[in-house]
Amino acid sequence: MIDGSQRLNRPLGGNDMPRAGGIATMMRLPHSRDLADLDICFVGIPMDSGASNRSGTRHGPRQIRTESSLIRPCNLGTGVAPFSRSQVADYGDLAINTFNIMASCDIITREISRILDHAVVPLVMGGDHTLSYPVLRAVRARHGPVALVHVDAHADTSDMMFGEKIAHGTPFRRAFDEGLILPEKTFQIGLRGSGYTPEDLDWGRERGFEVVTAEMCWHKSLVPLMDRIRQRIGSAKTYLSFDIDSLDPAFAPGTGTVEMGGLTTIQGLEIVRGCQGLNIVGADLVEVSPPYDPTGNTALIAAQLLFEILCVIPDANAGH
Ligand code: MN
Ligand code: MN
Repeated sequence: MIDGSQRLNRPLGGNDMPRAGGIATMMRLPHSRDLADLDICFVGIPMDSGASNRSGTRHGPRQIRTESSLIRPCNLGTGVAPFSRSQVADYGDLAINTFNIMASCDIITREISRILDHAVVPLVMGGDHTLSYPVLRAVRARHGPVALVHVDAHADTSDMMFGEKIAHGTPFRRAFDEGLILPEKTFQIGLRGSGYTPEDLDWGRERGFEVVTAEMCWHKSLVPLMDRIRQRIGSAKTYLSFDIDSLDPAFAPGTGTVEMGGLTTIQGLEIVRGCQGLNIVGADLVEVSPPYDPTGNTALIAAQLLFEILCVIPDANAGH
C-alpha cells in the first residue's frame, strides 16, 4: 500500500478518452516495466504451442487488453476499489519463443522470477495452460510450495502428451512431480467431460487433491465450497489458476477445449470472490482463444474475472 493516493496509477477514465479509444493496455493502466514501486502487475504470455486441440490462445492477451477497456475502477459487488489501495500496472507481454516450448518455459520462469523478486504479485494473462508450470517454478523459488486453487474443465495432470512432458494438459502433473504445490491444499473445480479411463480424475485424489467435478457444482452456490477451501488452505501462500474453459461454453465459447455442462459466470464470481482472505501470491487466467469467439465476449469475461482477481489480492503483499 502506498501512502498518498495521488501517486497511484489510475485507469484512464471513460470521460478522458472514449473507451473505444487509446492504446490498449490492461484496464487502461500505464504500461511499465519498472517494478520498483509496483504492488501488482498484469503480464501477458502470448503462447499456444502447448495447445492440443484448437489453437489461438497466443492472441489471448491482446484481446483481453482490448476488451478490458470497459472495466471501471470500483467493484460494485464487493465494494473494493483496487486502484486506490495498490500500485498496479500492465507489464506487457513476455517475449516467449513461439517455436520452442522448453525455451519458452525458461523465459517465463526467468521473467516471473524477476517480477516476484520485486515483491510484485503477477496476474498472468494467457496463453495456453502450459504456462502455469513455468510460472509455478518461479513462485516455488520465491515462496516455497504453494496451495493451489485450479478452476478448469480439465485436470491437466496428464503425464505426457505425444510423448512430451510439457504441454497444456500436463502443468499440474509437473507441478506435483517437482514439489511446486502442496497436494493436500490443492483444489480442482469444474472438471468434466470425456476422458481416457473412468479413473482419470482419481490421479489427483490419490495424491491429496480435492477434485470438485462440474456435476458437484451444478445448480448450487459455490459459497459453501469456498468457505471450506479457505479453511483448509488457511494462511498458506496460494496460487489461483483459472482456465476459462471451466465456464460453460454458453458463456465462454472462445477457447480450444470446450466441454458442455460447465460453471456459470455467477459460480466463477463465487469462486474468485471466495478467495478473499487467502494469501494469493500469483494468479493466471488462461486459454482464451479469440479466433473462436468473434464477439469478444470470452475475452471480456476474462478481463472481468481478472478484475475480480485483482480485487482479492491482499494489499499486505505490498512491500513499498
Ligand atoms: Mn487447463
Ligand atoms: Mn481446460
